[in-house]
Amino acid sequence: MPSNTYEQARFLGMIFEQVPIGIAIAYNYEPESSDPANVIINPRYEQITGRSKEELIGLGWAKITHPGDLEKALQNFRRLQAGQIPMYAMDKRYIKPDGSIVWVHMIVAPFTLPNTEQKSHICLIQDITGHKAVEKALHESERSKSVFLSHLPGLAYRCNKDRDWTMQYVSEGCFGLTGYPPESLLYNRDLSYNDIIAPEYRELLWEEWERILPKRLPFKYEYEIVTATGERKWVLELGQGVYNEQGEVEALEGIVLDISDRKAMEDTLKYNSEHDSWTGLYNRNYLISLLKKDLTQKKGLKKALIGINLGSIHLLTINYGFHYSQNLIKKAAEVLSRYCKENCLLFHTRENRFLFYLLDYKDKNELVAFSKTIVEALEGVFVTDRISGGIGILEIAPDESEVNIEEGLLRRVLIASERSVSLLGKDFEVCFCDEELEAVINRERDIVEALNYIAAEDYTNNELYLQYQPVMDIKTGFICGFEALARLRTKKLGPVSPVEFIPLAEKTKLILPIGEKVIIQAFSFLNRLTAQGYNDIAVSINISAIQLLNPGFTGRLLELVREMQVNPENVAIEITESVFVSDFDYINNIIGKLRAAGFRIAIDDFGTGYSSLAREEELAVDCIKIDKHFIDKLLGQDLSKVITGNIISISHKLGHCTIAEGVEHEKQLQHLKEYGCDRVQGYLISKPLDEEDAISFLRNNYTEKLC
Ligand code: C2E
Ligand code: CA
Ligand code: CA
Repeated sequence: MPSNTYEQARFLGMIFEQVPIGIAIAYNYEPESSDPANVIINPRYEQITGRSKEELIGLGWAKITHPGDLEKALQNFRRLQAGQIPMYAMDKRYIKPDGSIVWVHMIVAPFTLPNTEQKSHICLIQDITGHKAVEKALHESERSKSVFLSHLPGLAYRCNKDRDWTMQYVSEGCFGLTGYPPESLLYNRDLSYNDIIAPEYRELLWEEWERILPKRLPFKYEYEIVTATGERKWVLELGQGVYNEQGEVEALEGIVLDISDRKAMEDTLKYNSEHDSWTGLYNRNYLISLLKKDLTQKKGLKKALIGINLGSIHLLTINYGFHYSQNLIKKAAEVLSRYCKENCLLFHTRENRFLFYLLDYKDKNELVAFSKTIVEALEGVFVTDRISGGIGILEIAPDESEVNIEEGLLRRVLIASERSVSLLGKDFEVCFCDEELEAVINRERDIVEALNYIAAEDYTNNELYLQYQPVMDIKTGFICGFEALARLRTKKLGPVSPVEFIPLAEKTKLILPIGEKVIIQAFSFLNRLTAQGYNDIAVSINISAIQLLNPGFTGRLLELVREMQVNPENVAIEITESVFVSDFDYINNIIGKLRAAGFRIAIDDFGTGYSSLAREEELAVDCIKIDKHFIDKLLGQDLSKVITGNIISISHKLGHCTIAEGVEHEKQLQHLKEYGCDRVQGYLISKPLDEEDAISFLRNNYTEKLC
């Protein structure tokens, strides 16, 4: 501290020069102008205002004060001068020479000099432009926050963490969302927020907050509220805990948004993904997801599936068009849906298939009774259209796994329903998918497995072999040919009838490689016969439609004829009438080619299928094999009604040879002789024989050139 007066004055002068506050002292000062001699200004003052001492004095402070602050500044100054106030402080803006603004905090107070009457004052200014910017930003953010909150499509809140969710703050949007004004919720004045939450969510929300708060996780939950008008609304709440320094939860803050539009859209999407658009019934996807859920969650309850198969409806589509059959399906859906109950749901699983899913039913009898009701209902719908259908019932075992729904459960119901269609083929029949059917399904799988194995190129076993059934010429009584009949015998399956395995081979298309193996074996048999001197014995081979329609068939057959050097004239090809259903002209054309190559063609099972006598004349064939059905009729009493004789005579008129199959009794043979039938085949002559036996049989019943 300076000791003498001079030192002191110098020291104070230094402070005046260096202090980071602008100081101006004026004597007899007027705002507009002043005498320079009466004003002292420190450098900081010049720096803050951006103007020199001379400039400041010349202009006077009023001129450099921002117009927005001037009035207030002048007012303060006048009051100070008038002695109305002892001092004043204010924030105001100065305009710098470059036009920019500087904010200052200003304190103005009287300044009394000893021994003078002059009115003086001191003015201190501090640059607060920085603060002002922060303040402005803060203000702006507060403002935008409040704008945001008031426009929020929902409510923003701050509440206590208690069971009422006692609100400390609720934004304006509360009214739009809940129908209650925000004040009514504040501190539970009229009701609590918890009262607005739909009851079933209250506990869940509490639990979710309890879960996330200790972990300081954000809160996110979708639930429903009940508004003032009693309407339910879907909301999404996003929130977080507010923690104090000790880490305790002080409050909860967040927003509650209206998501009813999104929910409605989601509901529509969900509806579409779970429903069939044509019938409005649940679809297959939903069935699968429901079963998956129920198989794990409803283990204790009995479950059954009842599949309804309207397979034959496609025939109507062929005849009357798509719309016709579609409308029938809709009608069926309407009728069936009348039988839906809480524990009995209906699904439209595929174009021609419906399915009931029954939960918690009593017993098998209930299922049978229910199926019968369904049958009656469907017969009502299809009475004029003669549509038949199958109904398959599957009781789901309690330990059924949820991983195998499509390939396991649904496939089994389908098989049961298909089986009842194909087995019974009349109106609507019911078939249980029980152990018996399971056994059938398993056996079919085993057969297909065996066929697959046999179909392989390098297959050499004799599980697939042929038997030969002699064909006798009626006039001579001697054997003139054999029909080759396929046989399957495996260790696992034992002997399997062709009635069983041929349809499976056809279904799996394995008939193509297997049929070729049959042809090769039949050709070797034929070669054996010729080698033994039987040059005029024919061997007939059964050929499936699938083989005949396979584009490579004729070529391959001719190739085999060349390779194995057989005479095609000794080969007859038996095809069933049903192949003509697919494309009459196409098939007739193939047959023409085969005949041109020398093969003989026989129509098998004649009279049972499609073509009937009406089109027989168009068929370019050599032989007609009259089905056993007509031969059996020859055992009856009233032969006048039997058309067997007519078939034979028409066939002859058209130049076809006739063969009667399934002849078991002498009486039948006699009648066939009377009608002039050419050949017979049946147990009366011989059962199908193994190769060796067939050759010995031939040896005993053959006369050259008579056949
Ligand atoms: P299909 O062509 O009508 O053959 C005649 C069936 O009647 C044979 O049955 C034969 O054993 C049986 N049969 C012959 N005479 C009598 C009789 O007097 N009484 C009775 N009750 N039955 C008699 P199989 O061998 O069981 O063949 C059944 C069907 O399997 C055949 O009917 C044929 O459609 C099919 N099939 C057999 N082998 C082949 C083959 O190699 N290829 C194709 N595509 N189908 C074959
Ligand atoms: Ca045949
Ligand atoms: Ca037949």
